[in-house]
Order: sequence, then C-alpha cells, then structure tokens
Amino acid sequence: MAGNLTRTAGAVVVGGGVMGVSTAYHLAAAGVRDVLLLEREAGLGLGSTGRCAGGFRHQFSSEINVRLSLESIRMIRSFSEVHGLPLDVHVDGYLFLCRDAATWAAYRADAEMQRRLGARVDLLDAAGAVELIPGLAADGIVGATFGPDDGIADPSGLTNGYATAARRAGATIRTGVTVTGIAASADGGRVLGVETKEGRIEAPLVVLAAGVWSPAIARTVGLDVPVQPYPRQLVQTTDFAGRPARRTLVIETSTMFFFHREGSGILMGIPPAGAGPTFDTSPDDRFVAEELLPAAIRLLPAVEAAGLATTWVGLYEMTPDHHPVVGPVDGLEGLLVATGFSGHGFQHGPVVGKLLAEVAVTGRATTIDIGVLRPERFSRGELIPESHVV
Ligand SMILES: Cc1cc2nc3c(=O)[nH]c(=O)nc-3n(C[C@H](O)[C@H](O)[C@H](O)COP(=O)(O)OP(=O)(O)OC[C@H]3O[C@@H](n4cnc5c(N)ncnc54)[C@H](O)[C@@H]3O)c2cc1C
Repeated sequence: MAGNLTRTAGAVVVGGGVMGVSTAYHLAAAGVRDVLLLEREAGLGLGSTGRCAGGFRHQFSSEINVRLSLESIRMIRSFSEVHGLPLDVHVDGYLFLCRDAATWAAYRADAEMQRRLGARVDLLDAAGAVELIPGLAADGIVGATFGPDDGIADPSGLTNGYATAARRAGATIRTGVTVTGIAASADGGRVLGVETKEGRIEAPLVVLAAGVWSPAIARTVGLDVPVQPYPRQLVQTTDFAGRPARRTLVIETSTMFFFHREGSGILMGIPPAGAGPTFDTSPDDRFVAEELLPAAIRLLPAVEAAGLATTWVGLYEMTPDHHPVVGPVDGLEGLLVATGFSGHGFQHGPVVGKLLAEVAVTGRATTIDIGVLRPERFSRGELIPESHVV
C-alpha cells in the first residue's frame, strides 16, 4: 500500500465519517487542489456516523446550534436536488414532551429563541401531543414543543453521497490508512502534514475529523481536545399493534428517552444512568431490561407487545459544554479541527464541512460566525452550554 499512497497533498482530511466526507467535498468544490481523505477502516461511516439515529432538528438551547441547524437542514433537504444523488429524508418533526413547570418554561423560552432565529416551532398541550402520536401516555405532560421542519435522514446515504460528490469534485478517498499523528515544523507553529502507518504525507492543510478518536491524534502536536467517548445503545423493535404511523422523533425530556418509527417497529434509546466514558461498545442486556424498556413502556404502553429486532452501541463524542470543537487552532497554522459533536453531529455534517472550506479558502467562516466553537474556549473558560442532548 505504501507504494501507491501519495506523498503530498493539497489538504489531508483525517476521518471518513459524515464530517470528513462533507469537508473533503466542500474543500474540493471550493477549489482546493489534491484533497486527500484518509480513513483507517475498510469503509466509510463505520464510526459514530454509522451507529446514529439520523435525526435532525432546529430545537437546541444555544443560538449557535440553531444557526448551524438552519443551514445544515436546508442542505440535507436539498441534497438530492443539488447533487443528483439519492437521500432518504423524512420531515415528520421532533416532539419534546415536558412534565414539570420549570422544564416547560425553559423549553418555551428556547422555542422563542429558535423562532427569533427563523425556525418553526409550535407549542402544544398534552392533547395536541397525543393527536400527533396516538398511544402516548399523556398523564403529567404540561406542554410540548414540536418542530415541523425537523426530521430523519439516512446517515449512510448522506455519507456515501458526500463521498461521491467529493470524488466528482476531484478529491481522493483512501480507506484502510491509519493516521498516527500530525507532523509540525520544528518550532511547532506550522502543520507539515500527517504521519501514517505507511509514512508521512506532506500537506499545508490538515483537517482533524476523526470523531471520538481525535484527541489521541491532536495530542501528537500537544493539542488538548477535551472529547470523551460515551456509549449509547439503541434498540430496534419488531412490528406491534399501536406502532405510531408518523416518523416523528419523540423525546421525554425528564429522562431524554426517545423513539421514532423505523421500519416496521420503532428505534429507541435513553442515556444510561451513571455511565462513565469508555470505548467499550458491547450491548448491555441489563440496561435494555431495567432502564430502556421501562421508560419505553411508560411513554408508549403499546410497545410492551413488541419484540427486540436488533440492538447496537455507538459512541457519543462528548465535550464539557456539549458543543463541538470547530475551527483553526491558535498558534498552529494549517490545522483545522472538527470533532466533539456531542451526539448531534450527523445533522451538522453538511454545514460544518462548508464552514471549514470557507476558513481554508478565505481565512474565516462567512456563512455563520463559528468563533464561539474554537478549540481555545476550554482553556479560556468560555464554555457555551447546550442542554438539549438527546
Ligand atoms: C447511538 C447514536 C445515535 C446518534 N444519533 C444522532 C442523531 O439522531 N442525529 C445526529 O445529528 N447525530 C447523532 N449521533 C451523533 C453522530 O453520529 C456523530 O456526532 C457524528 O456521526 C460524528 O461524525 P464524525 O464524522 O465527526 O465522526 P465519526 O463518524 O466517528 O467518524 C470518524 C472517523 O474517523 C476514523 N478514524 C479514527 N481514527 C483514525 C485514524 N487514526 N486514522 C484514520 N481514520 C481514523 C474513524 O474510523 C471514523 O470513521 C448519534 C450517535 C450515536 C452513537
């Protein structure tokens, strides 16, 4: 392999998840020559992207996340038309259910902010929520927010779609190549390329988009990226009487249990109680029996009759403030970082790739100001909390 791996590139993108392929496409489309994406697995989208639920929403608690969503969802919904490639997209909305006055007040305030920025969000009472999703246990619901332009798209379709678009724009994608570090100048001020198991590839620009595995690569140039792996297990059920007809993603905000119709059953998940960071992705039967199923039956009693069709675990890439780390690095010219999407990076893949290409070509992101997401915010204590982590 070393023999046919190029030794120089105009830009190297590390990681072939949704973030890496979107970035490779947008760099090449913006005129960056010889864009090379390196992915260590045998295929693309086998990290967090391939394990994700595919949801997209405008309903976040921070302005920057809403702004990213507005542009990214526009890009997801127009992807097929713009690129002439298939993408399965369902716009059946996200429904957040609130069961206490304080939470309901906070979600109403967030909805006001989301509307001010241009998103559509409706406020519903319990009856309105049940009208949308018949069979919901409505007792105790004091209010709900519904985003009619939120929805679900196919993670594999978007990842492979951007990979195809990137190749068409002139980028090269190589799988089975492990990046072992970033090469920097002797004074540490400039990126020279990447080190791989097959030797160095020189490049004036490196984009680190290796998901939850990014911190180890960043450390090779002394950069601390505070991203930790938190396993999340999803369960797909079999068909059952009373299964919702709509594909609306429903979230119980007191536990962050969620479900949406998928195939003939529902797909569901809940943050595991008290779990710490680990790269272990083994499914946990006790968690399903004692935490997930009781929460599911409480909210949608009909699910008790369903069988378990399949289950898997993927890694959330969590930062201390649940916002991603995106942008250039102070004092290290030629490095751009895009990681730590804290469980909502699938939907932001399109816009983040576009923003990074703007930074690479013009020196700054012009579509959206992403200064608040810069890597230095942690050492400077400038955290921007996000509470809607589903
Ligand atoms: C269970 C679950 C459900 C989710 N649901 C949603 C959702 O509904 N909506 C949403 O928006 N987000 C969701 N997410 C989050 C979303 O999946 C991630 O935020 C997003 O996929 C991150 O994309 P990425 O490209 O940054 O990382 P990844 O997809 O993890 O890609 C990183 C890639 O880098 C590669 N790599 C790592 N190290 C190296 C190396 N040394 N050399 C070369 N390549 C390397 C990996 O193999 C991997 O392919 C969910 C995540 C999980 C786990």
